[in-house]
Amino acid sequence: MEIRSAKYLISNVSVEACPKPDKPEYAFIGRSNVGKSSLINMITNQSKLAKTSGTPGKTQLINHFLINDSWYIVDLPGYGYAKRSLTQRNAWEKMIADYLQKRTNLVTVFVLIDSRHKPQKIDFEFLDKLGTWGIPFNMVFTKADKSTQRDVSKNVRTFIEQMKEDWEFIPRSFVTSTIKFLGRKDILSYIEELNDAFNNSEKK
Ligand code: GDP
Repeated sequence: MEIRSAKYLISNVSVEACPKPDKPEYAFIGRSNVGKSSLINMITNQSKLAKTSGTPGKTQLINHFLINDSWYIVDLPGYGYAKRSLTQRNAWEKMIADYLQKRTNLVTVFVLIDSRHKPQKIDFEFLDKLGTWGIPFNMVFTKADKSTQRDVSKNVRTFIEQMKEDWEFIPRSFVTSTIKFLGRKDILSYIEELNDAFNNSEKK
């Protein structure tokens, strides 16, 4: 899929205020500094669409972008900010839980995982929540250029092996690098397939 246009639309604190759910939507989430903004910018071919976070945890909003006038990317505030207060964490939990459970046009959640690290508890905890709520997701292993291919493969393999202990079905995963422009085509073809499925089911 070619990206013909990518526009920032709106930021909200609640799912109720989000744009009309009439187009397929893809949410991106992960730990702070995982490379989410860089990934959204790479996918959309824009250098500054999503703001790369100098100050982690600053943007506590549901951010909508309209792509090719036909589908949405949503940049969600991530988890695991050490500096967040308990009140802020609770507000985040509620907003994210609400958004994920109520957003009827949400096709899948891309959960970003730093490929440099061994599996982290906090990522599994988030996947568990998605499982409990029955929300479809895919894993995106980011920053693949930062370690050797061997280490990336090992971390991905270990992550998936660990998932198999709890999950019957392992969703498709992607390996990305915004430096090497890796993974963009695969993610966009996948989104294109899902967009077609969404639009066909809407027609019925
Ligand atoms: P966010 O907080 O998850 O939105 O993360 P950012 O997109 O702001 O990225 C955090 C840091 O990681 C920044 O310094 C980015 O330049 C860097 N980064 C993000 N993706 C990559 C990547 O694929 N490769 C490398 N080498 N650095 C990356």
